[in-house]
Amino acid sequence: MNAKIFVGTLCLLPCALGAAVTTAVDHPAAARAVQLLEGKTGDAAVRLEVAPALASTLADGYEVRRAPDGTLVVAGARPRALLYAAYEPQRWLGAGDAPVRRVPHFRQRLLNFTGKGHSVADWVAATGANSVHLARNAAGRLVQACRDADVDVYAFLYGCDASKWNRGRFAAFIAAHPEAKGVDPGRSWEKGVLCPSSPATWAFFTQTITELAESGDFDGVVVTFWDDYGLNCCCRKCRAGALDSFGARNAVLVNCFEQALKAIGKRLIVRTWASGAPHFLGDEWVHAPGYAGREDALATWARAFEASDRATVFVTKVYNADCQPDPPFSNLLGAAAAAGRTELAEWQITGQTVGLNYLPYSNVGHTARTMKKAAALVGRDNGVCLYAGGYKRGDYEALDDDVNSINIHAWRQLAWDPDDDVAAIWREWAEPRYGADAPAAVAALQACERAAVVAFSPLGLGAPTESKAAKTVQRREDLLRYTNRQYLPEGRTALMPTEANIQAVVDEKNAAIAALEAARPAAAKGPAAELARRMDLLIAHLKTYRAVDGAMWRFRRLRFLKDMGVSDARLMREIEADFDFLRHNPYPLSEALGSPVPLMRDIHSNALVCVERILGPDWRASAPPAQ
Ligand SMILES: [Zn+2]
Repeated sequence: MNAKIFVGTLCLLPCALGAAVTTAVDHPAAARAVQLLEGKTGDAAVRLEVAPALASTLADGYEVRRAPDGTLVVAGARPRALLYAAYEPQRWLGAGDAPVRRVPHFRQRLLNFTGKGHSVADWVAATGANSVHLARNAAGRLVQACRDADVDVYAFLYGCDASKWNRGRFAAFIAAHPEAKGVDPGRSWEKGVLCPSSPATWAFFTQTITELAESGDFDGVVVTFWDDYGLNCCCRKCRAGALDSFGARNAVLVNCFEQALKAIGKRLIVRTWASGAPHFLGDEWVHAPGYAGREDALATWARAFEASDRATVFVTKVYNADCQPDPPFSNLLGAAAAAGRTELAEWQITGQTVGLNYLPYSNVGHTARTMKKAAALVGRDNGVCLYAGGYKRGDYEALDDDVNSINIHAWRQLAWDPDDDVAAIWREWAEPRYGADAPAAVAALQACERAAVVAFSPLGLGAPTESKAAKTVQRREDLLRYTNRQYLPEGRTALMPTEANIQAVVDEKNAAIAALEAARPAAAKGPAAELARRMDLLIAHLKTYRAVDGAMWRFRRLRFLKDMGVSDARLMREIEADFDFLRHNPYPLSEALGSPVPLMRDIHSNALVCVERILGPDWRASAPPAQ
């Protein structure tokens, strides 16, 4: 709808009806704010205004005051402030003589946009973001949608493996500059596609990022160097020269991109992202640098911080891991800010590691804890970043999810005020959705926060980064290290192949199941019934993985015993019972999250080898069947 016509029509219906939302602001963000408020302001007449002079007191927030005629005047320094206000009329409809002011705590708030059913403006309203990054090939209409929402817009460039950006173009470049072709180290996840010691490589990078930034009306480019890493060249020059480490190469990469963008008046945002923990994936070593400890993290990034200027933004996840359920806190966060650089703290709220939003989950407690820490480390002149949406789910619109959208809502309110009242945040989200069932729904979802962690992260150890079932023992063991807790005393303890840990794995699943069963809403229809249905799926998942993880720890115990020259047939019997459980209780999310059966089969066959090696093929004779 044409914004001008729309706004004009509304202005013909001023306060005569007593409850109109009006604006004379000629901007699409104001028009959308009017639409979002429709039907949500009760008897109040509301007028939306923009006054640039308010920037000195409100930044890009807003204030609401009551005019002498009773009209609620919502005012901000720029149009996007009206979108922020339109998301949360419950925060200002009661404004009396004293104006209500909402000033965002963090100056910079970055959001990825992957909306399926809602516009950029709706996402900006719902998250309180003031800049957005889009896929690098995003259509021009999406870039315009960001302008219409009055936010900065960035293109996203994934990886630094140039052969994956544009194959044809890369082939032509190598044909013209064979000296830029790197020497692949072999058996390394990080490839040596291009040689960082060749000036042609940097000329190619400069040209690529310049063209990308100029390909649309972008304010700059967001880059991330992993997983598609392409500069791990092991030629003689690279090994002998100054570019022999990730830290050295990252500094040059950041500097190259920064200079290229600066020359055309655009900005660089760098995600200091890496995945999981160093490990083998098949026969390739994944370095995932920066996760072994703070020293390692600084070795990877400190030189890049030094080599950049304050116009460049570094984004670091609050997780000291990929985006695991309740992981340890990042040991890199705050380092860029401490070096005088611009830094954003990132949260990834996509359901990626807790069931891709097929399951109910809350991470409100985690967000509340980490937001306070991040605020202290990066400071309010810097900011926050939200990676939101439905991870690898084309059918999912996070803002329409009446169960898991609490996570985005809570993030938004805490990003605006890290000291906000968390219980009130829950209520303002739940009451419009669940009505009289709101307290029960809140209690149920709060139970899901701990349960979702237990479901995917046994004893606080790592989980598949896409919630998909691991197929082999080896892969599962790699994933257990993904929270990087193996570096911590509690992680080392949890990984030990003891009877106590077998019991702990089972006990924590049982406790989570009991908590969910106690908190599950009784409603037979409506949103609370949908929540209950999804809690049933989570309970089924917990029962499935009580068997899988239980069998995994039993196998690890058997393997340890075998190395000591002994065995325990009872454990093998229990693994057989775990396998039987899967056979008799098909996993309801197999299609979405993968079948647990291949992993169970691998556990079973590996365990059998351990037992038979010590006790021989008649091992059954030495233990009665498990109950
Ligand atoms: Zn090289």
